[in-house]
Amino acid sequence: MNFSDSEIVASIITENDYATTDKAEDADVIFLNTCSIRENAEQKVLNRLKQLQYLRKHRPGMILGVLGCMAERMKTSLLEEERMGMRVDMVAGPDSYRDLPRLLNDVESGHQAVNVILSSEETYADITPVRYASNGVSAFISIMRGCENFCSYCVVPFTRGKERSRDPESILEEALELFNMGFREVTLLGQNVNSYSWTNASAGKEWNFPMLMEAVARVNPLLRIRFATSHPKDMSDELLEVIAANENICRAIHLPAQSGSSAVLKRMNRKYNREDYLGRIEAIRRIIPQCAVSTDLIAGFCGETDQDHADTLSLMKEVGFDFAFMFKYSERPDTLAAKKLKDDVPDEVKSTRLQQIIELQNKLSLESNRADVGKIFEVLVEGRSRKSAKMVSGRNSQNKVVVFPDKDYKPGDYIKVKILECTSATLKGETAE
Ligand code: SAH
Ligand code: SF4
Repeated sequence: MNFSDSEIVASIITENDYATTDKAEDADVIFLNTCSIRENAEQKVLNRLKQLQYLRKHRPGMILGVLGCMAERMKTSLLEEERMGMRVDMVAGPDSYRDLPRLLNDVESGHQAVNVILSSEETYADITPVRYASNGVSAFISIMRGCENFCSYCVVPFTRGKERSRDPESILEEALELFNMGFREVTLLGQNVNSYSWTNASAGKEWNFPMLMEAVARVNPLLRIRFATSHPKDMSDELLEVIAANENICRAIHLPAQSGSSAVLKRMNRKYNREDYLGRIEAIRRIIPQCAVSTDLIAGFCGETDQDHADTLSLMKEVGFDFAFMFKYSERPDTLAAKKLKDDVPDEVKSTRLQQIIELQNKLSLESNRADVGKIFEVLVEGRSRKSAKMVSGRNSQNKVVVFPDKDYKPGDYIKVKILECTSATLKGETAE
């Protein structure tokens, strides 16, 4: 989400006579787009801000701004030089990027500048993001902003505000424009894309997420569609059927489980239990054969017992996740968990459980990849492999990285590849035709 927002920021400031540079030493303005999701994400940002102070000595007029969730959460306290032990000139929350040119003017005239007002409407729908750090093949399209699910551990509803969806026409235009520029894959982004909703009053048409997916899939059969993230409580059969019916919608669903214990899920305010989750997995397997399933898991949430943890491990085995993002629970200020629950799992226990989850997932990923050896996949080439100049790298519909020998392929080519071997992270193969 931040990657996509940074492209919006780049668009806003380049329209106001700034240009981007990839050398911090050359920059007159440095924005840090920040994340508050876990404490260590914030710690990284604070360290980076401290490191950047040395540039100030060499470039006295340089402006340093903090954008994103940490700006929203910490507000003017980030500007308190004595408390922070460093200087920041500007603080701008995720809904105030249109205001950046004015904020920059304020700073240039010698003031510190702040805008952390959250909006119930801002979607940046009319802004064409500058794809400044892209591989030219895959791009993100933000389709909604904010979240109102209030999972008890999560800071996002507090830093990104109310849920709002973007006009489908502007999404379809962006997808077509990207295709015409040579992009071959778009990922529709939102905190909970399944609750996408737009009413077109004049046409009397109500859009939901499956309708949007279908419309984007029709932009061009050569444009692959992905989406992130889905909340299990809103994962409808209607959506699964749309995926099954459209070959260019990728066979990969990211469905964060968070925990395999119904008691923990209840305290997390996730609004589904273990059985509901497994029911959604069953529907995916039934409606979309060959679909990869990935997830997010949190180790050591408030009150998590050894049995709850064992339930998470058993859920992982039962589903056989292809891939997972795995985290240690970190209490975030203002959340329901911070206010009402005790962060009572000792840090060493959280670490041990996380380690067990990671080890199990490595095994499951390896098993999943081994099952692909001998199969043929259509791979969208993204570029040269990082490890060898003679190999190219791309991904299959299931979102697995596939590496194979280069035969003058270009980024954006679709190549049929037969898988010959694998590690837990990568499939390796050769051209099949
Ligand atoms: N909207 C998405 C997830 C956004 S945050 C969804 O609901 O699926 C990405 C992931 O970070 C979450 O799925 C969760 O696993 C993790 N996460 C969020 N808050 C956390 C916290 N306080 N501690 C540890 N992990 C957290
Ligand atoms: Fe956070 Fe839950 Fe919203 Fe995801 S759905 S952003 S985890 S509150």
